[in-house]
Amino acid sequence: MKAEIINIGSELLLGQIANTNAQYISEQLAKIGIDVYYHTVIGDNKDRLLEMLKIASKRSDIIITTGGLGPTMDDLTKETIAEFLRLDMVLDKVSLDKIEHYFQKTKRDMPNKNIKQALFPKDAKILPNQFGTAPGAIIEDKNNTYIMLPGPPHELIYMFDTYVYPYLKKYSNHIIYSRVLKVCGMGESTVEEKIKDLLTEQDNPTIALLATQGEVLIRLTAKVEKNIDPGKFIYPIEHEIKKRLGDFIYGIDNQTLEEVLIKRLIEKNKTIAVAESCTGGLISNLLTNIPNASQAFIEGFITYSNEAKIKRLGVNPSTLKKWGAVSKKTAAEMAKGVLNTTNADIAIAVTGIAGPGGATSTKPVGLVYIAVGSGEQINVDECHFTGDRLRIKNLTAKTALDKARRYLNFI
Ligand code: ATP
Ligand code: MG
Repeated sequence: MKAEIINIGSELLLGQIANTNAQYISEQLAKIGIDVYYHTVIGDNKDRLLEMLKIASKRSDIIITTGGLGPTMDDLTKETIAEFLRLDMVLDKVSLDKIEHYFQKTKRDMPNKNIKQALFPKDAKILPNQFGTAPGAIIEDKNNTYIMLPGPPHELIYMFDTYVYPYLKKYSNHIIYSRVLKVCGMGESTVEEKIKDLLTEQDNPTIALLATQGEVLIRLTAKVEKNIDPGKFIYPIEHEIKKRLGDFIYGIDNQTLEEVLIKRLIEKNKTIAVAESCTGGLISNLLTNIPNASQAFIEGFITYSNEAKIKRLGVNPSTLKKWGAVSKKTAAEMAKGVLNTTNADIAIAVTGIAGPGGATSTKPVGLVYIAVGSGEQINVDECHFTGDRLRIKNLTAKTALDKARRYLNFI
């Protein structure tokens, strides 16, 4: 089964937004073994869409469009597909009621032009839109299936997951299943070295390494017939990789370091507090993104200036004078100060030079000290990161979260 995706929207061509819809749909289709051979982006233009439909209908079984389902003049996907297939546009009363109801709910009057969103090519299967006014549609022609989805990603994702994915599953006789093992604290080449033989012998599942900011992702992908459990292929290899990399693997798939850290803290009934200099609150922000963070996260300090480090955390002025704000000793005193004022079980403290300015001959941009500890035992690591300011902030936050995660194994 061959599919192709046509993303409609002039703002895509102008580079104003990234085409995340194409990425999402392709990723989902790969899971059910439907091959996607083409992505095309075209502007809000009827003639070019007609031209594209002519090409696509000859080479693909399934044609998925995104965008152009809205109420305005430049939204013309449904009309153009109807014209291409020589179908009349018909009013769907159920959709019209829903659109009217949507406006009532949001306390607005429905403009007349929104009626257009309840018009569909004859015999189309209508896909309700949970988050907006534009329903989607599926048309089964004798040769092709046309699937029309809205542009806004959250509307598209819901509609795809709820209606399109189950609908398309019937076309596939095998599935592709991926699992991602997430590694922190070990570089890509070391990971590669440790699983070299598995990489060389890989077959089903395939194994791919991907280095991202401060992490290495190991993606295992198995292709199996529809009724076979892909876990049978994935789990033995996953088990072997876990055996070799141990606790350097912190999570699976969409898990994040902050999520895993909060989970472990709650499990161990421990609390954490944070003192941040160069990360400017990023670590606290990441931790508080996680539901139930309040069960473990007590307080975060952004002590950017020397005075703040002295006043809020009790860092010794002579330490700052002698060793500087970016030093092992300052990081340790920041962590101690946090423990003293908050009574948390564990403290994280970071201080560093995020650049581009601020470097000295002995302290380059990217030099960061990360302190993690509890009670009298504070461990400070000296890290050397590269990249621009934001990258250094991100790497610092990730490394600090990872150190705290691993520190928890020992208390
Ligand atoms: P609306 O009812 O909002 O007009 P629509 O179905 O007509 O929805 P468009 O007008 O084409 O969709 O796009 C609406 C918005 O959705 C765009 O401004 C953009 O923010 C987002 N969007 C559209 N296409 C894509 C895409 N391919 N990838 C990511 N975002 C997209
Ligand atoms: Mg629109």
